[in-house]
Amino acid sequence: MKYDFAIIGSGIIGLTLAFKLKQKFNNSKIVIFEKEPNSISHGSGRNSGVLHSGIYYEPGSLRANLCVTGVKELKEYIKSENLWINECGKLLLPTSEYSYSNLENLFNRAKKNGVEINKIKNEEIKRIEPNTNCQFEYGLHVPFTSVADPKEVSKSLIENLKKMHVEINYNSKILKISEQKLFTQNNTIEAGHIFNCAGLFADEIAKNSNLEFRYSFLPFKGKYWKITNKSFKLNHLVYPIPDLRYPFLGLHSSHNRHGDFYIGPSSTPVFGREQYNGILGDNLKESISLIFNFSKKIIFNENKLRTLALEELSLLTKRGFFNQIKKMFDNINPDDLELSDQKVGIRSQIFDPQSKNLVNDFVVINQKNTTHVLNAISPAWSASFAFADHLMNEAAL
Ligand SMILES: Cc1cc2nc3c(=O)[nH]c(=O)nc-3n(C[C@H](O)[C@H](O)[C@H](O)COP(=O)(O)OP(=O)(O)OC[C@H]3O[C@@H](n4cnc5c(N)ncnc54)[C@H](O)[C@@H]3O)c2cc1C
Repeated sequence: MKYDFAIIGSGIIGLTLAFKLKQKFNNSKIVIFEKEPNSISHGSGRNSGVLHSGIYYEPGSLRANLCVTGVKELKEYIKSENLWINECGKLLLPTSEYSYSNLENLFNRAKKNGVEINKIKNEEIKRIEPNTNCQFEYGLHVPFTSVADPKEVSKSLIENLKKMHVEINYNSKILKISEQKLFTQNNTIEAGHIFNCAGLFADEIAKNSNLEFRYSFLPFKGKYWKITNKSFKLNHLVYPIPDLRYPFLGLHSSHNRHGDFYIGPSSTPVFGREQYNGILGDNLKESISLIFNFSKKIIFNENKLRTLALEELSLLTKRGFFNQIKKMFDNINPDDLELSDQKVGIRSQIFDPQSKNLVNDFVVINQKNTTHVLNAISPAWSASFAFADHLMNEAAL
């Protein structure tokens, strides 16, 4: 069977890419291969659903450029399809002296990225968001940030792709790619151009396809706590001012269309790619290698990973977690928190052994007639429509 374009993975990156390809090449034959029975089993169905404005990312980086443009397109898409969205805006609160010292940096970064941001006094924060606890004189306010339902967005894209005659093959795991061919357990499929958008497995597929790169995989689990006290409500998304050296945004609030509030996600090292419950993965060899890799980085404190691991350790108990979040929230008790076993995601994070840092940007690598998407970390969901354009440019289409 011969296709013009084959995409591995039907997460948000695969779906928006198929959508954009079909818009540009109306007569093309496009197929998506997805190993799961649906498109929302991993990152794109397990995230906070926040439409990030683009304030955090290094000006000029892929994350900054694609997020700022892509999120506007995502918002337009959501509105044009009448999907749920809450344009609530976002408050960023300092949680320590160090965090407060980053306020000005973040403010300037947002301005450089062309995103509207305002400094806001703590009395004003308390007035507009009574359940917060800003301990410093100023916080930040970003009006654009919104929250939507990621599962609903994927469902809508799938319906549109079906109407556009894009084929989505579920329960179809791609084992490797070689010279414009994709291999499943029983089939070989040919395609003019192949896009590897396999999220947590993208680096493995790239390696199995003889792509040489220096990165190693280092997954971090994000767990959320549900707020069970129904009288606790927030009008905005509430985030800390984060440590900009890490790709993580810190524990923040998120809410859904049903009015459920959560706080998370954590950034806990995990020793398996899809290990949502428990610590070790199905592939014991890989789990052992991840344990070794994490331990080495923690011992040598590479990219301050020991500091991060110690902070994360303190969040494992309800008391430790509560002590951290009370730096931002008021009128909440430890009894109001319940660890969610449903809402948990894993970041497809890679590590650069050369700079000894967690890679803090998206990575796209072109091989002959194949494009690999590595490190599709946050805000890839927000950026996805522009990410698709970028992939097409990289593939010279
Ligand atoms: C806890 C958490 C919270 C987040 N919050 C936000 C947020 O609020 N806003 C935001 O913008 N971003 C957020 N993100 C990031 C965002 O979710 C991801 O960047 C995005 O979903 C990545 O999409 P993807 O298509 O690359 O990956 P996925 O959604 O993981 O899709 C990849 C797909 O490839 C399939 N696949 C893998 N291997 C194969 C194979 N061999 N053959 C066939 N199919 C295969 C998988 O089954 C999967 O369905 C968050 C991430 C996490 C973990």
